[in-house]
Amino acid sequence: MSIIDVAVPVPLRQTFSYSSEQEVAAGARVLVPFGRRQLVGVVIACRDNVNLLADDDGPVKLKAIAEVLDQSPLFDSTLITLAEWLSGYYHHPIGEVWSTIMPSKLRKGAALSDHEPALMLSDKGKSAEAVAALRGKKQQQCMALLEPGPVATEEVKAQYSAAVIKALQDKALIETTIINNPPAGDWQHFTLQQTPPTASTEQAVAIAAINQQPGQFVPYLLDGVTGSGKTEVYLQVIEPVLKQGKQVLILVPEIGLTPQTVGRFERRFGVTVGVLHSQMTDTARLRVWQQSRRGEIGIIIGTRSAIFTPLKSPGMIIVDEEHDESFKQQDGLRYHARDLAVKRAHSEQVPLILGSATPSLESLNNALNKRYTHLTLQQRAGGASHTQLKVLDSRDQPLHAGIAQGLINIMRSHLQQGNQVLVFLNRRGFAPAVLCHHCGQTVDCKSCDRPFTYHKSQGRLQCHHCGASRKMPTHCGSCNSDDLQTSGIGTEQLEQGLGKLFPDVAQVRIDSDAVKGKDKLINRLDEINARQYQLLVGTQILSKGHHFPHVTLVVVLDCDGALFSADFRAAEKLAQLITQLAGRAGRANKPGEMWLQTDNPGHPLLQDLINNGFSHFARQALQERKLAQLPPMSSQAVFRGEANDSSQVTHFLQQVRQCYSVSASVAQGSFIGPLPCLIEKRQGRFRFMLIMQCQQRGALHSWLKHHLQDVESLPLASKVRWSLDVDPVDFS
Ligand code: ADP
Ligand code: ZN
Ligand code: ZN
Repeated sequence: MSIIDVAVPVPLRQTFSYSSEQEVAAGARVLVPFGRRQLVGVVIACRDNVNLLADDDGPVKLKAIAEVLDQSPLFDSTLITLAEWLSGYYHHPIGEVWSTIMPSKLRKGAALSDHEPALMLSDKGKSAEAVAALRGKKQQQCMALLEPGPVATEEVKAQYSAAVIKALQDKALIETTIINNPPAGDWQHFTLQQTPPTASTEQAVAIAAINQQPGQFVPYLLDGVTGSGKTEVYLQVIEPVLKQGKQVLILVPEIGLTPQTVGRFERRFGVTVGVLHSQMTDTARLRVWQQSRRGEIGIIIGTRSAIFTPLKSPGMIIVDEEHDESFKQQDGLRYHARDLAVKRAHSEQVPLILGSATPSLESLNNALNKRYTHLTLQQRAGGASHTQLKVLDSRDQPLHAGIAQGLINIMRSHLQQGNQVLVFLNRRGFAPAVLCHHCGQTVDCKSCDRPFTYHKSQGRLQCHHCGASRKMPTHCGSCNSDDLQTSGIGTEQLEQGLGKLFPDVAQVRIDSDAVKGKDKLINRLDEINARQYQLLVGTQILSKGHHFPHVTLVVVLDCDGALFSADFRAAEKLAQLITQLAGRAGRANKPGEMWLQTDNPGHPLLQDLINNGFSHFARQALQERKLAQLPPMSSQAVFRGEANDSSQVTHFLQQVRQCYSVSASVAQGSFIGPLPCLIEKRQGRFRFMLIMQCQQRGALHSWLKHHLQDVESLPLASKVRWSLDVDPVDFS
């Protein structure tokens, strides 16, 4: 008889003990009775000394596990340790940590399997006449999908309705089959498919530094301006790692995971790259997860949660665009994949590369303190020149479509030379508000107390905080006047205005309204690079990672909001955005310029960026954080609460504060708040936060841990929806 400690997916900060006839190794899943349910848990430990559990009343009776789901462990000791660390560091229940780590099929108890049901063309379906005779377009497309060979049923279902599939089955054009997970090929014995470019001196220094210390944990910050050839450095340092039969895990931001990125790695090495992102079907995710675990693929590229992918023989971890906010999970287990990558690389004893043109102040600080090896690339690769940053004072200038006349002239001259111009405005829709000309009242979303955004193409109002949507009213809700006017400019209106200013110039708008679905974005980007458009208008989708070699001018409209934000990270975020945007221009030997239109041309942040560049700005910002004792010079955690009744939330957070006040002096901790979140109300719920701060990370953690149970047992804790966020990056 064994005693088994199981992490069960419930919001309780403990494991649960069960008895088992057989020994079950840590890292295997078991089905256990829990209350009236049966849940899938992960074994954390297995002991055989039953006496351990004897107390005054004799041996404690344990419930028996219901079923062993894995005969051998699914997770190795590194992942088990990582889960324990996550639970401790983020103060999150261990069972829920495991729910986050596991692919959803495994969470639901599915068995690992080498084969899966699939659909394929029947003999009849392979004849061209049969397909030509099909009238439904969807049916034809579905046939085309199966043309090259069988596809997992679940993946077909993700793209085509059950009706389409059934129609084809009824016509006997397709039939079911079983496919084995395809072996991903002999990746250890690849031959380079392309001759790599000769590394620049800076690249060569970085590559040599990384190659010198293989097989051990060394963290590097690859701090290289946009287009300096960071990806080329990754490609060259990966090569010897793969040759040794070791795997490389690459994390990229949500938006950076394009076929182009993946293609670059596949083309260089001629091997299959395992891709993991949230839009994949559960089956496809699990397939890559298994291949990686068995060591059948050498390169795995994925977004945030790919950091949990098991690796049979880990060789290196890379986090590209490490400053990107999409690495931080904003609900449930609020982990930061970059920080986790550091932790994981350390326990796997492999090198870690954090790459960015605009490193987070956290990582930069670690590099300046010599905790990370700082590698810099200051020159753009292939001789491309740097983009010049300039500020345009928009006060007292006539504006057309929100753009100052002076800037329109500059745009015209770039367009006349046949170059592309990118206009950035981080606000989608036609206008950010609609107001009554008679009484001045804005049309607000009642559940968020914020103005609706007007979307002219749909003739509707949309709340950008909660997504609520309604028809554009004809009359003011307060005074019944019919004189409603829009206020401010969004991308939809900008596009329209630019169309009037430059009627002969082909224009494309890239924002989440105009570009729905990944494929569409990729098609637009290809069209841009094929020079089908000269004017590109868009939101921050345009700022990330894409190369626009023919863009010579970037115009940024309306960055003034961020200059005066209450979020202490706003300046850092704005500087990153501006620098990343500047990096889109002037790549292929065409010098680029970037203009920031602002009412605050003398603002120190803008002046510093323009005169001294991002790396100077970042060092200045670190100094300021030091003076203000803000992260990364201190550690923060935030309790957030929301409820329909605002006094309930503030009372709750005040009580949380009282719980922690008792030992604030021991922890040398301080509080900010309770105060409203930057978005004070959303979907009818009022939102407040309590920020806790300590000089020492360790002190913060023991402080947090010490009173968390008191917080959980507060009567209001069950009335208010609350969460704890360690190392918060966003106060909205
Ligand atoms: P980053 O990842 O820093 O944005 P990339 O690696 O994508 O930079 O490089 C930018 C461009 O320069 C790419 O087209 C790349 O092929 C090219 N490039 C990179 N390194 C070199 C080099 N050493 N010589 C010539 N071209 C290079
Ligand atoms: Zn009115
Ligand atoms: Zn709303």
